[in-house]
Amino acid sequence: MKHITTFGKTGVHPPEMKLTAGSPIKEMPLPRRIELSLAQSLGRPAKAIVKAGDHVSRFDMVGEAQGPVSANVHTPISGTVKSIGTITTTDGHGAEGIIIEASDEDHAADLQSMCDAAPRIGFDAINRLTGDEIIDTIRRAGIVGMGGAAFPTATKLSPPPGSPQCEFLLINGAECEPYLTCDDAIMREMPHEIITGIEIMLKALGQNVRCIIGIEDNKPQAIKAMTVAARSHERISVAAMRTRYPQGGEKMLTKALTRREIAPGALPISEGVIIQNVATALAVYHAVVWGIPLVERVMTVSGNDYLSRCNYRVPIGTPVSDIIAALGEIPPSTVKIVNGGTMMGRAMAGIQGSTTKGMSGLLLLSSGESPQRPSTPCVRCGKCVEVCPMGLEPYLLARLSELGRTDDAAAHHVTDCMECGCCSYSCMAGRRLLDWIKVGKTLARKK
Ligand code: SF4
Ligand code: SF4
Repeated sequence: MKHITTFGKTGVHPPEMKLTAGSPIKEMPLPRRIELSLAQSLGRPAKAIVKAGDHVSRFDMVGEAQGPVSANVHTPISGTVKSIGTITTTDGHGAEGIIIEASDEDHAADLQSMCDAAPRIGFDAINRLTGDEIIDTIRRAGIVGMGGAAFPTATKLSPPPGSPQCEFLLINGAECEPYLTCDDAIMREMPHEIITGIEIMLKALGQNVRCIIGIEDNKPQAIKAMTVAARSHERISVAAMRTRYPQGGEKMLTKALTRREIAPGALPISEGVIIQNVATALAVYHAVVWGIPLVERVMTVSGNDYLSRCNYRVPIGTPVSDIIAALGEIPPSTVKIVNGGTMMGRAMAGIQGSTTKGMSGLLLLSSGESPQRPSTPCVRCGKCVEVCPMGLEPYLLARLSELGRTDDAAAHHVTDCMECGCCSYSCMAGRRLLDWIKVGKTLARKK
């Protein structure tokens, strides 16, 4: 194992708050009702291929991808389709979705099928698969990047013709966001399954591709487990990285693990790199070896005052209100609920909405964990510029966006912002930098 310092001197190191570190993965009960969003990938929403009144079985595809940046959607429960239409998302907005309800018989059959589950193929069969067969299986299984970006994995593994040759498959086990420990948990508990998923992706990418798994050094057990699991695989190595946010960003991870620099606006493949998350590698293992589409994920439920905090395996489409009902009421001290981590996650309007493929965390934060700072005028300290990992001038981008000067914001590369939040986090004046930058970025992209 080689030790690489980190990606550079930018970024921040917020309090880690890994309150659930070391906790085992627990099972969330199979829900009797799911609200399955059809918009679970970066591209266009999937199209419903079922209608109200249809009966569906666990793992059936119910939404079909609409283009290469879209992803199929499958049901984690058997049941009857109650409706297709707008469902509420965790941010309080709406998305097209499918509501499915299980009868007692459906529920009992699903529980039995979970007991009877067995791998579909063995290691010999994996070795006989062609790259096209692997990518087709991953595409059909609806697998997307599970670190939050939700880019379809099959599309990422098949760069367009004319792209540079892939040399490195980088596996993101950084989990640099405060609070989140779900990637840590799967690396500790399922390292061999993750390594098999990586092997399958390496087979799809070709002989000359090497894999480096990057894990921050605040996860020593995960580093140890993954190193042991990778020991007999000469194309796979594990690298410990100094803990620093946002190390899991594509540009930062590439720099930390290969010393290569991705140019602004370019994709990692421009430097011969493809990046996947550890949870995505696990989903690939389940799809290829067990024949199971992406219908569940491990997510962190946490918060200082939430005594049921832990990592849970949650069926995708589970209503957030069901999670709270199963685990215990929200503490009265809660002032903010977040989908994801505290840096890049999104505030929720309440406990509405349901889990998605990209939802890695559900945080119930008290006032001490989510202090409200008054916003005062910029004092030109330059801290936001110092920490920006994309080399931008956040104070300027925010001001231009606030003034509606979208062309000027675009000229200062507002669209390169990766929305890491380091600038807002570091601003002593409590400026809402990222909020305004997001506005400018959205308007600049529409031009
Ligand atoms: S401008 Fe964007 S990329 Fe730079 S620190 Fe702020 S949020 Fe991060
Ligand atoms: S960190 Fe805040 S106060 Fe300092 S320059 Fe940036 S916006 Fe201004």
